[in-house]
Amino acid sequence: MKRVALITGGTRGIGFGIATQLAKDGFNLAVNGTRPEEAVQAAIDELKALGATVIYCRGSIASSADRKNMISSVREHYGALHILVNNAGIAPRERKDILDATEESYDEVMTTNLKGCYFLTQQAANWMIEQKQNDTAFSGCIINVSSISATVASVNRGEYCLSKAGLSMATQLFAVRLGEFNIPVYEVRPGIIRTDMTAGVKEKYDKLIGEGLCVQQRWGEPEDVGKVVAALAKGDFLYSTGQVIMADGGMTIPRL
Ligand code: NAD
Repeated sequence: MKRVALITGGTRGIGFGIATQLAKDGFNLAVNGTRPEEAVQAAIDELKALGATVIYCRGSIASSADRKNMISSVREHYGALHILVNNAGIAPRERKDILDATEESYDEVMTTNLKGCYFLTQQAANWMIEQKQNDTAFSGCIINVSSISATVASVNRGEYCLSKAGLSMATQLFAVRLGEFNIPVYEVRPGIIRTDMTAGVKEKYDKLIGEGLCVQQRWGEPEDVGKVVAALAKGDFLYSTGQVIMADGGMTIPRL
């Protein structure tokens, strides 16, 4: 039977890049997003055309009730979950200097990017432990999509940087906790990827990339991140739990 992967925010951008690669690599999918089903139908159809069974689990990872529903839908439909990809995330609605930024924006970004991933992971982890205890051949893994912002300070989106730094520690915490069950937990750290999230700052990054910001002088594409996640999900890095894999075109290599 095909292994099952749940990808949050999987209907567009990086999440869709991940879902596409996982479908190509033989996984069945549960794809989460906040938009109504009609709005994501084309994306779901594209994934199905790659040979995967796909269910759409509509809901916000920022909501406790929605997170529970998401896991219940996967349980009802597939009766199993092997891979959780915590991809959904938001940038602040407005980039504001940390001297002016608001508590509302802080709460929104942290609740989605950190609390949402943390507690969805908790649920998935408990279910994965149960599956492992029922079947020693069960092979699960959890992959968090953070950002170079986990370590690179941008003072005009402090709450985003904090959320990603927190997600980085969450990766290590769950890696440690799930070690005894042989369920690896990884963090993938994208750099500048061409998606809706970065569409509004395209010109700024076109210029910076042209000036050599990244060692590999191009934008990253969702597919670049999808291939990394799929390699992890397939089990090519089984003895590397807790590790960070960069997908940033060498942008964060210290240079002189
Ligand atoms: P995007 O805005 O294009 O897509 C994000 C997806 O997440 C969308 O499908 C959106 O509907 C979904 N989403 C947002 N809030 C949600 C919620 N509360 N519940 C469920 N789904 C929700 O963004 P993207 O660029 O594809 O980003 C994906 C992830 O990669 C994010 O976590 C982001 O922080 C991270 N990232 C992006 C970049 C980049 O340059 N684009 C760089 C580093 C990290």
